[in-house]
Amino acid sequence: MANVVWHKHFRILLDLTRDDLDHPEFPGLWDLIYATDRFYGRRGVPVSERDLQCGGVCRDMGVEAPMHLRMRGGRREAVHERREDEERHTAPMSDEHKAYQERILRAAHEGGFGGDSEVRTRVGRTWIQTDTLVEGADGRRIGWEVQLSTIDERGLRGVRARAGKAAKNGITPAWHTDRLAYAQRNDTHWTRSDRLPAHLIARNGDLRIVSGFRALDFWHCDTSALYPCPHGIRRCGKAHATAKPRDVFFDDMVRQTAAGTIVPIQFRAGKTVHRYWVTSADRDRLDDLDSDDIRLPPERETTPATGASRNRPTCQPATAPPTEQGPPTPDVPLTARPLLTALPLQPAAPAAETVPSDRETVPPALEQRETPTPQAADTTTGLPTDLITLQQAADAAHHKLQQLDDHHERDLQRRAWRQAAEAVQDAVTHYARTKRLNRYEVEARLRQLVRHSAR
Ligand SMILES: [Zn+2]
Ligand SMILES: [Zn+2]
Repeated sequence: MANVVWHKHFRILLDLTRDDLDHPEFPGLWDLIYATDRFYGRRGVPVSERDLQCGGVCRDMGVEAPMHLRMRGGRREAVHERREDEERHTAPMSDEHKAYQERILRAAHEGGFGGDSEVRTRVGRTWIQTDTLVEGADGRRIGWEVQLSTIDERGLRGVRARAGKAAKNGITPAWHTDRLAYAQRNDTHWTRSDRLPAHLIARNGDLRIVSGFRALDFWHCDTSALYPCPHGIRRCGKAHATAKPRDVFFDDMVRQTAAGTIVPIQFRAGKTVHRYWVTSADRDRLDDLDSDDIRLPPERETTPATGASRNRPTCQPATAPPTEQGPPTPDVPLTARPLLTALPLQPAAPAAETVPSDRETVPPALEQRETPTPQAADTTTGLPTDLITLQQAADAAHHKLQQLDDHHERDLQRRAWRQAAEAVQDAVTHYARTKRLNRYEVEARLRQLVRHSAR
């Protein structure tokens, strides 16, 4: 028996413990469904070909377990057709699993975060069932799912779908296991600890995550680099990142994911999507690396490390902790200008060595290019020199960003780059519009010219 039934045609979950099946919007739902199921029964339709499946543990594990309905002593009941499905419900949660649930909640609590086990979050007409849900900072919700060696691997179907559904509904999935085979799956962000008995998991002592967390090693692709260039054989001069395994304490993982200082990332290498947890600082730096000037990194709310505040005086106390960044704000459209006015910007100077010496440089100020006067132009592509200069400046600013290690310096340089990138974007738009050219093609030709003549 189970209390939650999935109606595969209506695509809703039915909670048999509630009179209205938790669907007040459909009066008479039980009568309809029960009568239909009885009718199927009288017609000899097999249970597996009817409408109902287990919506509880079976569905959570990705198993389609057919059910039928009955009334027993005035109570509504849903019954599994197969014994093996029924047994999935009666298998008690292992002591190790319970110990993990308690440990997660205790670690969260010590970090000032709340949480609960076996949480059901309503999502439209269905629910998300979370093993242990931690309520983190800034509305962040971490959904811990503990899958230990005690269950067999067939029970792990549907991980990607469950994790994806949680993520789509604002719950960051965090799947933890003690089994190597699970940890090597890349269907979600798995973490793994060694296999330990419940009394050790429950204790306050060190509990380590031995896989799933990575430290990103940022390096410059020059002749002194330790790693081969991921793009080819030769040294490309750019910055790259290499993810290196690093142990982390389980309790720290619980608290830092709640705080947002450890975050999930994923990236594709060949056909595989890799999923790791990294620090938010590493994630930000990776964003810098992966972005280019049409996909700028998300703008970040930063707090200056020292010195005067860039912000105007305010009577509101800052809500963000003084040393940590707030959550990244969504991508800002390129037309929206960032707040740059009060910031001592480094001038986004063009890289001198890439400017062809026989051409005059045009000041990059946008206002000066408004007049449609004859412009100096590249002789082969016909692109105006000022566009070339702006693109060189943006590329130089990006290159410099990739060379910086210091967090604060990178914040400053990121702004400089963003400004330079927006300048070239605006100029390309203006030029293409004036000349009635395809903007995308202008941009592609410009980049081709600048990036291939520079190397
Ligand atoms: Zn079931
Ligand atoms: Zn390289």
